[in-house]
Amino acid sequence: MGKEEKEVAAYRSWPFQEAAQIVKRRHPNGDRPVLFETGFGPSGLPHIGTFAEVARTTWVRRAFEHQTGIPTRLLAFSDDMDGLRKVPLNLPQSEMLETQLGKPLHSIPDPFGEQDSFSGYMNHKLREFLDTYRFDYEFQSSSEAYRRGDFDEGLQILLDKVEEVRQLIVPTLGEDKRMAWSPFFPTCPQCGSVYKTRVTGYHPERQSLDYVCDGELGSARGCGADGELSVLGGRVKVGWKVDWALRWFTYEVDYEMYGKDLVDSARLSGRIVRLMGKQPPVGLTYELFLDEEGKKISKSVGKGLTVDAWVQYAPIESLLYYIYQNPKRARRLFWDVVPKCVDDYLDALRRYPDIADEKRPEQDVWHIGDPSGSVPEYGAQVNFSTVNNLIAALGSDSADLLVDYLERYDEQASSYPQVLQSLVEKGHNYYRDFVLPNKKTSDPTVEERALLGKVAERLGVANGVTEDELQGIPFDIAREAEVEPKELFRMFYQVVLGQERGPRFGSFVKLVGKERVLEMLREKL
Ligand SMILES: [Zn+2]
Repeated sequence: MGKEEKEVAAYRSWPFQEAAQIVKRRHPNGDRPVLFETGFGPSGLPHIGTFAEVARTTWVRRAFEHQTGIPTRLLAFSDDMDGLRKVPLNLPQSEMLETQLGKPLHSIPDPFGEQDSFSGYMNHKLREFLDTYRFDYEFQSSSEAYRRGDFDEGLQILLDKVEEVRQLIVPTLGEDKRMAWSPFFPTCPQCGSVYKTRVTGYHPERQSLDYVCDGELGSARGCGADGELSVLGGRVKVGWKVDWALRWFTYEVDYEMYGKDLVDSARLSGRIVRLMGKQPPVGLTYELFLDEEGKKISKSVGKGLTVDAWVQYAPIESLLYYIYQNPKRARRLFWDVVPKCVDDYLDALRRYPDIADEKRPEQDVWHIGDPSGSVPEYGAQVNFSTVNNLIAALGSDSADLLVDYLERYDEQASSYPQVLQSLVEKGHNYYRDFVLPNKKTSDPTVEERALLGKVAERLGVANGVTEDELQGIPFDIAREAEVEPKELFRMFYQVVLGQERGPRFGSFVKLVGKERVLEMLREKL
């Protein structure tokens, strides 16, 4: 085992484990930067999965650089040579798009009328999206790379070895598709379709193939054109698995991760790239995010939680924190996870300063911090649920007032005005859109009213007591009345906040103030 390898394995956090795999794989003669790749399908808008893939790849990249000092690049590749197979549900001009089915995405008009093509619009959105979050990447569209001739060498090899490629792929297909299958998809020079053409002959000596445009896609038939076409320069693209292999071959990609749904594709692409004479990249298989009902989050439906939406309700770092956690575990990503996620993130920030320098690269927040390695400081006790409880109790729209309360509650809080402002602003949005609509206030029964009356009475005469002593009040009352303390707490929060659960009673009183709690209780008595 080399020195390098041993060093890489020194950190247990998963980006370092991934980095160790790259160190093992690297070509001994490689003095070029190590290349990371992420893929984007511009048939729809970039979604949270795209964001997560770029973020996770960035973490591996940074771990690798930190450990080895070897420079790296990240290629964000967009497959705009792909054809449009169906009209996405969440886009305008569906009638126009219907007429464009089967054409490559880069040759379809932009339904929003802003960019020069359908994929131009999606690519623009992707770049805007990645730039907003300050990812470091180089963008590359497939059509540009094909036209520039990047793939010509690989295309020639694929044409030379077309039978061997067929032998790899054909057994994985259904009987009916085996005969006609070709790694090549010619774009019909007459009608522009890429899914209605088929290949009828190969001429490796002339870098060309024969095609006919007579296929069907939905209700539309090919235009009937036929002839010979060069495979070079973007006139012909290769199918998805072969395309992946072609990219790996051409750019010598060292690292690419992919979703669990693409495991088989990755395996086949790996075999193809070996057949072409090079090695597939190292890659992590990540589990997919699921929506509330446990279904895969899909871009064509446009459902589920988006990055843009998340940042309205919680800081972006909390989303990164969520995405960072074990990528090999499938997790649900929906609104209920937001508060806990913010609180876990703040907790991690609080613990960070006590961690020895050499242990820091083990920490989640080390990875998600900015590229200079700096991690924001946060030493206050206020968290997202504190803010939500306060808003629930005060019902206030005034950010200043809420900040006042928080600073009175926690002396440390005033040292982090930006975090506080952000928590209050986003907490407000979260409360308004997700907590308030689910509130169910109920009137107390006679017995409950009597218990709450006692709480109010004791609280009223408690002066200058500590949080712990305040916490003791409902316990004493519950014991005297012979009810379960947890029943009393549940009832208290149900009646005063309209929610099933709440913070610790003592902390709650300290947070919103004794007078306000008494006022809320008296309204119900
Ligand atoms: Zn045609």
